[in-house]
This record gives sequence, C-alpha cells and structure tokens, in this order.
Amino acid sequence: MILKNVVSDVRDHSAARWDIELQDGRVQNIRLSEASPDTPPQLLLPPLCHPHIHLDKAYILTCNNQSSPQHPDYSDLCPTSGSFQEALANTSRAKERYTPEDLYLRGSQLLATSYTQGVTSIRAFVELDHVTGTLPLTIAIRLKKDFAHLLELQICAFAQDPIFSTAHGDANRAIIDHALVEFANSIGALGTTPYVETSREASLSNINWAITRALTHNLHLDFHLDYTLKLPSPSHAQRPLTYSVIELLKEHNWAQIADSSKTIVLGHCTQLSMLDNAGRKRLAEVVIASKLPVYFVGLPTSDIFMMGRPSSDSHSSHNRPRGTIHVPSMIRELGLSACIGVNNIGNAFTPFGTGDPLQLASWAVGIYQVGTVEDAELLYGCVSNRARRAIGLDESEQSGQIQEGQKLRGMLLLRNQGGVDLPGALRESSMAVSSRQRLSLKDVVWDPLESSLRSIVR
Ligand SMILES: [Zn+2]
Repeated sequence: MILKNVVSDVRDHSAARWDIELQDGRVQNIRLSEASPDTPPQLLLPPLCHPHIHLDKAYILTCNNQSSPQHPDYSDLCPTSGSFQEALANTSRAKERYTPEDLYLRGSQLLATSYTQGVTSIRAFVELDHVTGTLPLTIAIRLKKDFAHLLELQICAFAQDPIFSTAHGDANRAIIDHALVEFANSIGALGTTPYVETSREASLSNINWAITRALTHNLHLDFHLDYTLKLPSPSHAQRPLTYSVIELLKEHNWAQIADSSKTIVLGHCTQLSMLDNAGRKRLAEVVIASKLPVYFVGLPTSDIFMMGRPSSDSHSSHNRPRGTIHVPSMIRELGLSACIGVNNIGNAFTPFGTGDPLQLASWAVGIYQVGTVEDAELLYGCVSNRARRAIGLDESEQSGQIQEGQKLRGMLLLRNQGGVDLPGALRESSMAVSSRQRLSLKDVVWDPLESSLRSIVR
C-alpha cells in the first residue's frame, strides 16, 4: 500500500510531502512526493481516543427504537425540566428496559461512529447495579470482541449509583464485587461515583472500597468526582474529595503495590474551578507531590450542559456559571496531567453532539477561550495521545518525522477535499469552487473535517 502526498509533520505549515510505501503497516520506503504542489495533501495524525464515554447509556434519547420486545421505546423519557435529578431518574427508568439486542445495537452504533471519526481506543463505562445486573457488562464484552480488529475497548465496570448508602447500596456493591471476579479477564478499569452517596462518610467508604478492589483485581481506577459548582466550605472536613482520593491512595500504598501501568483518573471535578488560585495551586501541589499516576479528565460539553442551573427562586436565569475544569491551564500552569472527553451522547445527561472527539477539541477552543496555534495543538493532544496516556495506553508512535521501519498502522489519515461543484447560473452549466486546504493541526482543530475524509491506516 502506498500513502501518497502525505504531510509528515502537521505542526509545520511548510512541511515536506511524502509518498510512503507501507508493508504490514510499517514504512517500507519513503520518498518526496511527486504530486504537484496544487494537489491537496493528506495529513497523518495520532488517532483519537475516548478516555471517558458511557456505552450502555448512549443514544437512549436518539435511537428511535420502533418498540418491540427486543428494542424498547424510550421516547417517553425525553427531558422535560432538563435537570440533573430528572436525568438520573429517567436514566434509571431507561435501565429497567434494557435488553441484550438494544444494548448491542446502540453500543455498536457508538463504536462504529467513533471508528469512522478516527477513534481507535475507548474507555467505555458500563453500569452495574441492582436494576441492570451484569447485562451491560456482558454486552460490552461481546462488543469488545466483535470490534477488536478495529479498536481497543477498555471496559470500565462502573457504579453510577450509591454503593454505601440508600436501600440498594449493599446490593449494588455485591453485584460489582461478583462481576469483578467472574469477568476478571474482560474488565480493565473500576469506576465509581462517590458524590452520589448520601453522606460524606459514605463517599469516603466508596473511595476506600474502590481503591482496595482496584488493587486486588489489578485494575485502573476511575472516579466521577467533585461534580458541583458549590464552593467548598473552609472546613477541613468538607474539602474537595480529590484530596481524600490522594490521601486514601497513599494510605493503601498504591504507589508501592499497584502495577506501574495502572492509572487513576478523576473525571468532572468541576468544583476545582471554583477554588481560588491559591487553593487550586495547593491542591495541584498535593497531587504532584504524591507522585501518583493521577490524570484529570475534563468533560466540558457535558459539564456546561449540566452545571450551573438557576435555582427556582433565582432572580436571573440568564447569568449562569458554566463551570468545568480549565484543562489547558491545569496542564500548563499547574503541571497536572489532563485530557478531555465526551462523557455522554444522546441521553438526558447530554442529549446533544455527535460524540466526535475532534469536534470536542474544536468546541474546547471557545469553552476554554484558548485561541493560539499552540493551544490548538495542545487540544488535539487532549483528545489523542494525552487521553491514551490517561487510560494507561501507550502513545501512538507518530512524532513528526517519519522513518523507515516505523509503524503507521492505526494512525489517523485525513484527506483534503478537492472542491465542490455547484449548479451554474445557466441550466446544465456548473461552477467549481476549490476547497480550503487543511495543512496543520490548527486547521484541523479550528475547523474539523467530516468523517468521510478521515480513515485509519490499516
Ligand atoms: Zn461519566
């Protein structure tokens, strides 16, 4: 196979273009392209990664199932208030209707769409509780196998619901405990949601339990954490739970005991955006000093949809704090490891969006108000190599200069469009308009190209 007219270093606008002969996915031969300079080049980039996406909840509101015993109708569950409580309640009702066929169809639609968008690795959250039992997990295992030739699906066994409070806490916990043993070979990460517990004590028990289980079963750890825009109270006992996660990891000797490839991911953490600069710096110093492999995953599109809703007695429904962690500043100013993810798609937690990580990076330019060329490059990293690192995968090999022997299989190849033909002013005449060319990362992030122009090198 020959890749023709490829820009090798997308950080450099004037980079050379190459014809690359591949054998078995590796560079066999590389020479300067003979294509005319007017011919639109192709760009070779690291593939995209979903570090945090919910598999079983995808497309509940947009699947438009024609009601049947295999494919339940969810059309009565569209949000009416759009509140977080309604999203939790409606999603619980949806979960009561899950069937194997429905979960497999929606899951495969998400994976197929992701692959065509350029995604080759995914941390997929599947819920385990007294309502769903292990059904979403067993379907995810089938999907992992059926899509294994296209992408790496890392399954996160996930407790969305309380496991140390409410009437169902014990049952929810027992189901996960059982699944971690029975499906040990297929589960890559354990995830919980400490903030849904009804007391701080229960939240701490939740974190403590998850750490012990991740260590016992040799898993990555992933918390949905500090998901509020309330200012933390000055009292030591009410600090963001991020502090407690670090303290409990240290108590359990994570650094000494855990396999060095295992990471700890903290998702949402919107409350950290409410700290003052000194408070945030203090927290970052604690994380860095711990030397633990902690990664923050910002979920900006999901966060700004859900956070900062006006209360019913609010004087203004127009001035809303759209809070989400500022991932570029966390990386550059605080020295933390961070990336961004989509979280939800087509459900009450985030009804909108295509799930495209590249589109997410593009929106992030506006959400984070970061408009330089270097910012665009950083954001591309946040949906590709930085995201891979967060979920414990190796970075893809692409590093600018392409060499013989280098593996390019699995890289993302972006084609430029030649142009469009429009109807001319006279009947049966036509008018050709050549397309703008995307030649660098900033072009791709500021103006994402459609999926039909993306492919994964095979
Ligand atoms: Zn999530």
